[in-house]
Amino acid sequence: MKNVLITGSSRGIGAATARLFAKEGCNVYINYNKSEEKALELASSLGACAIKADVGNSNEVENMFASLPPLDILCCNAGIGKTGLIQDMSYEEWREIFSVNTDGVFYCIKNALPKMIQRKSGNIVIVSSVLGLRGGSCEAAYSATKGALIALTKSLSKELGPSGIRVNSVAPGAIDTDMLAYLDATEKAEIISSCSVDRLGSPEDVAKMICFLASDDASYISGQIFGVDGGLII
Ligand code: NAP
Repeated sequence: MKNVLITGSSRGIGAATARLFAKEGCNVYINYNKSEEKALELASSLGACAIKADVGNSNEVENMFASLPPLDILCCNAGIGKTGLIQDMSYEEWREIFSVNTDGVFYCIKNALPKMIQRKSGNIVIVSSVLGLRGGSCEAAYSATKGALIALTKSLSKELGPSGIRVNSVAPGAIDTDMLAYLDATEKAEIISSCSVDRLGSPEDVAKMICFLASDDASYISGQIFGVDGGLII
């Protein structure tokens, strides 16, 4: 049975990914930070284990990994958004978004790697964003955090390939989760009109790509960034 940790899986894309990995017979570890009730409920419905840790805090990440078995699959999904003009962003806000979205991925990968390298096997899927590929007005900091993950994915694929570890990224477009709750119906309709597929994405749309990339069916795929964006034209 494969051991899988999905960071930020109390809600949204992470929760859908946890459900799918559990359905595929994996031993699922659900990381959460603030949404304890949701994480515990999901874990109990899946027979999984929920672990609290702020991924932006290296000590909490180390403690989380100390309680985990060696991982076959690490899905770095936890993330936060922040919109607004760059000149209005405080130093603290900039640090916070980088701390969760980018530092958090580094902390988790660093802690997962020793056992993966020892076993010469492992699979890492990083959740980036279409904005990391193309950038977004009023989402410069968020886009920068996600762009960093794309460079990290490509670099680690090269560095870790000889150790039997594959590293890939998904770049979701507009996915209907709490992260888009700040948009009203008109703004959502505008985004949909920029997509080839006439709807917002669902968390399950992204989860399916993550699970595929982590599976043996994707054994010849590494260092790639896969858009799951309904053909978004921005
Ligand atoms: P969401 O519904 O807001 O869920 C975010 C998840 O991240 C929650 O489970 C949250 O857990 C967790 N999280 C946030 N800060 C954390 C921290 N410091 N430590 C641990 N967990 C933390 O968002 P989502 O749409 O599912 O987003 C998942 C990923 O997809 C993110 O990386 C996001 O950037 C990316 N993405 C989303 C979209 C979209 O349109 N929705 C598009 C592109 C990329 P708690 O509630 O327990 O704190």
